[in-house]
Amino acid sequence: MSREAFVNGQYKVFDSAMVHVEDRGYQFADGVYEVFAVINKKIVDYDGHLNRLFRSLNEISLKSPIVKESYLFHIRNLIHKNNIQDGLIYLQITRGVAQRDFKFPKNVNSSIVITAKSISMENYHSKFENGIKVKTTMDLRWKRVDIKTLNLLPPVLAKQKAVESGCDEAWMVDTDGYITEGSSSNAWILIKDKLITTPATNSILKGITRTSLIKALKKNHIKLLAKRFNKNDIKKANEAFITSATQFVMPVIKVDNIRVGKGKVGRYAHIFKNAYMEAIQLK
Ligand code: PMP
Repeated sequence: MSREAFVNGQYKVFDSAMVHVEDRGYQFADGVYEVFAVINKKIVDYDGHLNRLFRSLNEISLKSPIVKESYLFHIRNLIHKNNIQDGLIYLQITRGVAQRDFKFPKNVNSSIVITAKSISMENYHSKFENGIKVKTTMDLRWKRVDIKTLNLLPPVLAKQKAVESGCDEAWMVDTDGYITEGSSSNAWILIKDKLITTPATNSILKGITRTSLIKALKKNHIKLLAKRFNKNDIKKANEAFITSATQFVMPVIKVDNIRVGKGKVGRYAHIFKNAYMEAIQLK
């Protein structure tokens, strides 16, 4: 079955879906994006992701090219047109096409691209059973990573370093030695019965998965601490996790040469995954 993408108001066959060479996303990373998971043809935590998209747009003074109410229609269309059962929706908005010049162009429409792809939930579940390994790297990002911008070179380099060391994710470390977050996920450790995650400041992206898991934990009376943690804390942890729209809740069994707990997926991992899956909103 052929794939289709939504590009500036039109549905295009995937292989001929193109953007202009002078799109500001391409030249300046001048834009923002969102990733929505799809489970059973339904969008996961749609409102959370859409509201964060509008916050990101607002923070960089970028106007939405379509009205807020139209997003759901186009995303659902893509789920249908691409026959997605389980999958991911990628949506990006840039400051449009203009002759290369740093300052904002005048009277230019912002560009929008939405794509959809299938993922296998079986792959997720089997990856979960083994857990993942993490490598720490320096957090080299700018000071507003709370905005979901296209400016992703530091996390790209971090993830590549992790992969070259046989790991699945990088945990980025700030100048004080604290873990900020993963290259494309939020970071968590469990010490005894306390779950710890970095507070949502300008130094991390406030994950929608993170927010949903926190809601789920409250319901299940699990103690949560929004507190910075470092490698010494990881040594004391019995379990660790990442969360993101693409990985949901994923256990971490090793960070650099530190074996987390017994170096195996722990029992809280299952509790958190199940609590999260029950708490998500499907639309
Ligand atoms: N932090 C960073 C840096 C990310 O790129 C992501 C994934 N986009 C997340 C956290 C997790 O956010 P979410 O749960 O909304 O996918």
